Amino acid sequence: MVNTTIKTTKSQEVFAAAQNLMPGGVSSPVRAFKSVGGQPIVFDRVKGAYIWDVDGNQYIDYVGTWGPAICGHAHPEVIAALHEALEKGTSFGAPSVLENVLAEMVIDAVPSIEMVRFVNSGTEACMGVLRLMRAFTNRDKIIKFEGCYHGHADAFLVKAGSGVATLGLPDSPGVPKSSTSTTLTAPFNDLEAVKALFEENRNEIAGVILEPVVGNAGFIAPDAGFLEGLRELTHEYGALLVFDEVMTGFRIAYGGAQEKFGVTPDLTTLGKVIGGGLPVGAYGGRRDIMSMVAPAGPVYQAGTLSGNPLAMTAGIKTLELLQKPGSYEYLDRITKKLADGLLQVAKETGHAACGGQISAMFGLFFTSGPVHNYEDAKKSDTAKFGRFHRGMLERGVYLAPSQFEAGFTSLAHTEEDIQQTLVVARDVMSSL
Ligand SMILES: *Cc1c(COP(=O)(O)O)cnc(C)c1O
Repeated sequence: MVNTTIKTTKSQEVFAAAQNLMPGGVSSPVRAFKSVGGQPIVFDRVKGAYIWDVDGNQYIDYVGTWGPAICGHAHPEVIAALHEALEKGTSFGAPSVLENVLAEMVIDAVPSIEMVRFVNSGTEACMGVLRLMRAFTNRDKIIKFEGCYHGHADAFLVKAGSGVATLGLPDSPGVPKSSTSTTLTAPFNDLEAVKALFEENRNEIAGVILEPVVGNAGFIAPDAGFLEGLRELTHEYGALLVFDEVMTGFRIAYGGAQEKFGVTPDLTTLGKVIGGGLPVGAYGGRRDIMSMVAPAGPVYQAGTLSGNPLAMTAGIKTLELLQKPGSYEYLDRITKKLADGLLQVAKETGHAACGGQISAMFGLFFTSGPVHNYEDAKKSDTAKFGRFHRGMLERGVYLAPSQFEAGFTSLAHTEEDIQQTLVVARDVMSSL
């Protein structure tokens, strides 16, 4: 039956040693499990839908290295392609055919993208797109939404105030007020708030950037008409619409949320899946806007490792695998089974919960909901989520260590994995 006795001695030793070596013992904050309590497990290896920790425990994984592993970890075809590419060298710092291949695939897939620039991370993609938005419109202000994450660049590190749309204050020490004074925020799914900001800042707003389906405040879908409304408002006020599809690109659908919802932004950022597990980001969009990027135009942006041949190779192979007929139908089917199943289990075990799923992205909030924005999401019982997370982990299911992160499935997850996960979830929720 369900394994409840897991030993994590080695994980604890490694993580304890890491505390002295790296801030918080990690290379990225959420990995430290601060918001769920308890110790993180230390990974040894990953394959398909599974991960193994340094103590030899196996887990079903719903983090997928935060999104890239949509074909499953260490897919044999991706690994084989990487071996071949490796023999030709690890970095060129010069043009390569691989960049053309991935660029063409991205341009063919993503409706808004006519030209693309490769970078090394989602953060970098969002930084590049921000400069471009401002340069193209000759305006400085931007609108972002509460709870949406666009990487850690200064201008995006703004948590909104209460429910009211307001001028942003920095979210972290070290971010000067001057860097965020041009960042306006609105609640997600609130077109009126966006319209009000446009009215108050006429001819000053370069554009609106958003996660078209939110993943960084937990899973929050756009209300019917929200994305369309933003498209209309940005047109009306001469501003650009930017979809940050670093998470949703090639996950919500092959062409991203813009394909799924039929709303085409002016610019798009990508990352995660297009690197197939290697470090990649990209931004792209209308040819007239992208033509402003150096050296075609005056907007500077560069990168020593950008377009890295290994990263391009992993990205190309991953997209090829996703092109196989039925990929997205499969992802949607198993993920729906999981998301519906979790809600059903919560209901039967007496927990207020809401959540949902689109394609291979899902979420579960411990609140009765509905959740339309970050304020709603924050009503969740995060202490309960922490206990749920720990219980699942101890029984071999690895969930994102925060109530405010989306979950991810992959082509490697089987019906049996989902079934097993629901059995475990019932066990855990019964004792929460
Ligand atoms: C992950 C993410 C980023 C940042 O990407 P990194 O590669 O972590 O820098 C930006 N935007 C969204 C929507 C993301 O999910």
